[in-house]
Amino acid sequence: MTPLGRSPDFAELREQMVERQLRRRGISDERVLGAMGAIPREHFVPESVRRSAYNDSALPIGHQQTISQPWVVAAICQALRLKGDERVLEVGTGSGYSAAVLAEIANRVISIERVADLGETARHKLEQLGIPNVEVIVGDGSQGHPQAAPYDAIAVHAATPEAPHSLLAQLAADGRLVAPIATGSADLLTAFVRDNGDLRQETIGPCRFVPLLGAEGFDPPEED
Ligand code: SAH
Repeated sequence: MTPLGRSPDFAELREQMVERQLRRRGISDERVLGAMGAIPREHFVPESVRRSAYNDSALPIGHQQTISQPWVVAAICQALRLKGDERVLEVGTGSGYSAAVLAEIANRVISIERVADLGETARHKLEQLGIPNVEVIVGDGSQGHPQAAPYDAIAVHAATPEAPHSLLAQLAADGRLVAPIATGSADLLTAFVRDNGDLRQETIGPCRFVPLLGAEGFDPPEED
């Protein structure tokens, strides 16, 4: 146990996260592992849960939303197969953590968040770390951001009711889109790969996500 008042050794916890939660569980892309070993996750979570920043779980960030479990962030990034020169669209900025990880392994990230307060906080956190290549946009990202399309990669961090058609239309030739697709029992993390004219679909595995709300998502609750 950490003595009262002293903060945990976050660098050590981060290293353990990379080894135990990621490498041992099938994440093998060294660029993804390197990025997750470099980005301070504790910077992106609220003060009240900072000590739990490296837990093997999602954590609350307010507005009924969560920062995703580290393994989920890594699995999405790995499935995008980024080399470093890509333009990436992210839907669901949340805390800004996954945007920071993507910014390490791609050239430019455009990230859209529906909840203005979360988007603004994320933008501020990214600025504080001096991460220059992420643009956070507040708005409904369920139909993407056609102004900057096409994208080499698209990461969706909230469960879509079906294959996200508008987003797929903004994918470059050879581009990859990763999204959780809601089914009756679970959300299935799915990769869509544009291969010249064809679109291939691969299931990565079951995961739990918050719903994508908006025009091509689920209907927002009344009080929203
Ligand atoms: N990747 C984030 C976790 C995101 S949780 C992180 O690392 O912290 C999913 C986020 O998607 C929530 O913040 C939610 O508000 C947002 N969201 C839901 N529907 C959306 C939409 N249509 N457009 C943009 N963001 C949306």
